[in-house]
Parts: sequence; structure tokens; C-alpha cells
Amino acid sequence: MEAEIIAVGTEILMGQIVNTNASYMAKQLTALGITSHYQQVVGDNGERLDKVISVAEDRADLVILIGGLGPTEDDLTKQTLAQHIGKPLVVNFDAIQKLIAWGEQQQKELTPNNRVQAMLPLDAEPLKNAVGLAVGAMTTFNNTQFVLLPGPPKEFEPMVQNELVPRLAAQLHSDAIIQSRVLRFFGIGESALVTQLKDLIDNQTNPTLATYIKDYEVTLRITASAGDEAAANALLDPLEAEIMHRVGQYFYGYGDSTELVDVVVNELKRQQLHVTAAESLTAGAFQATLGDVSGVSAVFDGGFVTYAPATKASFLKLDQATLEQQGIVSEATAKQMATGALTQTDADIAISFTGVAGPDELEGQPAGTVWIGIAMRNQEPTATLYHFPGSRHDVRYRAVKTGLFDLLK
Ligand code: ATP
Ligand code: MG
Repeated sequence: MEAEIIAVGTEILMGQIVNTNASYMAKQLTALGITSHYQQVVGDNGERLDKVISVAEDRADLVILIGGLGPTEDDLTKQTLAQHIGKPLVVNFDAIQKLIAWGEQQQKELTPNNRVQAMLPLDAEPLKNAVGLAVGAMTTFNNTQFVLLPGPPKEFEPMVQNELVPRLAAQLHSDAIIQSRVLRFFGIGESALVTQLKDLIDNQTNPTLATYIKDYEVTLRITASAGDEAAANALLDPLEAEIMHRVGQYFYGYGDSTELVDVVVNELKRQQLHVTAAESLTAGAFQATLGDVSGVSAVFDGGFVTYAPATKASFLKLDQATLEQQGIVSEATAKQMATGALTQTDADIAISFTGVAGPDELEGQPAGTVWIGIAMRNQEPTATLYHFPGSRHDVRYRAVKTGLFDLLK
């Protein structure tokens, strides 16, 4: 099979964005053993796009179009392809349902352009978009397979992984089964993870490895194709062992739908431990996240939201003067808050959050400075300092997730 990638977007031509999607896609094609001799980049222009499609279909069996599936006037990849292959655009039921739900939630009237995001060329196979609204598609015309994928990498990458690669793999090994494992990591960035696994990623053939990021976490999918399940597992087991050997300290669970908080609550249940929290920076977000888990009452009775120093002092029975002397964002305060929460409840383990959410600095410390304390019965409390990047929201939610991960340690 010979493939050709077409990246659509004037921004790429002008050098305003780097064509990382083409590189991501090309790596996946290489891993599948699909050859490729040409790539193209074209601006948001229907006429020129139509020309590059003609060029590509003459020399490739698989033409992958990336970008231009959105609702704006310059997004015309799908319309151009549909016209090129002489197929009308028809509404995809699942995608329009999702779009209508989105419209209701946003209290927005759907425009005709919005609706195009839920349309596909007639008879095309939809490629689900778990992150965004624009549905992808796969369709064959005159012995060439065409694929439509959205431009934003956070939509594009999971669609390649979860929708396109399995279909291509199945076409290539029609007698084989495809087995995937999804490994979830926290506390390591994507580029750091990729660096640690660089040789494995560069030399991948079968199994393949791919990473993507979601909610401050990195997900790694490893996929093997083999004659049967046991043979596929025999390929995956040693690779997983090697991955764990290198980055196992950041691993917390398996599966696409696993949440860090579920893993934490299960672990607390298994060890029969009750948790409580004293939250300054996160103002209850940690406890609200616990509350997302059904059955959490088995391990969580309640806790404290102590934003102001006086509230810390009165709820947690701490000495306000000492708190202010040490600094509200300090190791000592994090430890005292955790210890105070433990003393005021029957919990076995208490976690505390104090930090600078930003955007302004506090006590001379920059936004993103966070102390997370942990206290357990009959043990010295501990506290760890973090520096989180991003907005106020990012800092607070990274703190919540980091706190959850700290509890697992
Ligand atoms: P949207 O609904 O966001 O408009 P789209 O499918 O129409 O999505 P584009 O409009 O082409 O996609 O691009 C949207 C954004 O996705 C770009 O501004 C850019 O940030 C990113 N993007 C697009 N193409 C690429 C690419 N080839 N490589 C990396 N990023 C890209
Ligand atoms: Mg767009």
C-alpha cells in the first residue's frame, strides 16, 4: 500500500504552525509498514486542494487529508473531497446528535456551517472524534482510499490511534487479530516520556507504540498484530515490561476510560483507609473530584476548605500567627494543615493543598508554586513542593491530580 498525506491549511504554508500532524501520521504509517513517497501541503483554497487531490490519487492507494473539517468559511476539505469523488454530503446520525447536544449545552443556535461538521460523503465510514465535534471519514473512490481527519492535534492524534490505525492494520493483516493495551501515566510530560522511550518508538514495527496527552496526563497505547490473542500478548508482554522498567514510577493504570481518582479510591478501599483533605489553593476541587466516584463514602467522610488564614486556624485548630510567620505557601503550613485535618477527623490519611494559583504572585512566590502535604497516623507528615505551569485553572487541577497521584505512592 502506498500512502500520501495532504496537510491542508494556509497557516502551515505561511510558517505560522509546524506540520506536526504530518510527522505524527507518517510515523504511524511507517510503523504499519505502509510506504509513502510524497507528502503535500496546500492552503485553504478549494481549487488548489482539488488539484493536489488529483495528483495524489494518481500515485497513492491511500490519501490522508488533514485539517479543514471545522465550521468556518476556510474549512472546506470535506466539501472539496465530496465534490471531487462526486458524492453528496449526508448527515451522520451520531455526529449530529452530539452537535445538537453541544448546541443545547452552549445555548447556541446551530448554523448551517456547524451542521457540516456532522456530515460525511455518502457511503463513507465515519471516524469518531472523541474530543471535538468534526467527524472524520474514510471512503473509497476509483481504488483510492481517502481519509478525512481534523487539524487540532488533540483531536487528530486520538483519532489516528483509535480509529484509523486499527482499520489500516486490519486491512493489512486480514488474517491477524489486533490487540492493544492502553497504559496511563501521570507526573511525566509527553516529551519526557517520549525521550525515555525514544529507541522503542523509533524502532517500532510490531508492536507499535503511540502517545497522546489528555487532562495533564500521558496515555501510551501499544498495539500488536498476531495470529491469535496469545501470540499478540507474547509480543506485548516484553514491551510492556521494558516500558515499566523505564517509566514505571509514573504508571497508574490501564485503559482509556480509567480515571486516576478511581484508581486511588480503589486502592484506599483495598487498604481500608479513610482519607480527608484540607484545601486552600484547590478550594474543594480535590474533594469534589473524590465525589465523582460512586461509592467513595466507603473511604471519605469529609474534609475542609480553608482558604483564608483565619479559617485554616479555626477549622484545623492551628495557630494563625505561626501560619503567617511561616508563610501560607510553605512546607510548614502544608504539613500543619494535613496534620490538623487528621487531628480533627477519624481519617487515616490527610492531604493538604496550599499554593499560588495565579496569575499574580503571593508572598513573593510565583504563580504555580504549590505545596502538597500528607499526614498519616503515627508518622511524621511530609510535604512536597511543585511548580506547575499554565493558567489558574491549570495550576489548581494539576494540583488535584498530583495530590491523587501522591496518595498512590
Ligand atoms: P477547527 O474545527 O479547529 O477549525 P479543522 O479540522 O478545521 O479544525 P484547521 O482549521 O485546519 O482544522 O486547523 C485548526 C488548528 O489545528 C490550527 O490552527 C492548528 O493549530 C492545528 N493544525 C492544523 N493542521 C495542523 C498540522 N498539519 N499540524 C499541526 N497542527 C495543525
Ligand atoms: Mg478550521
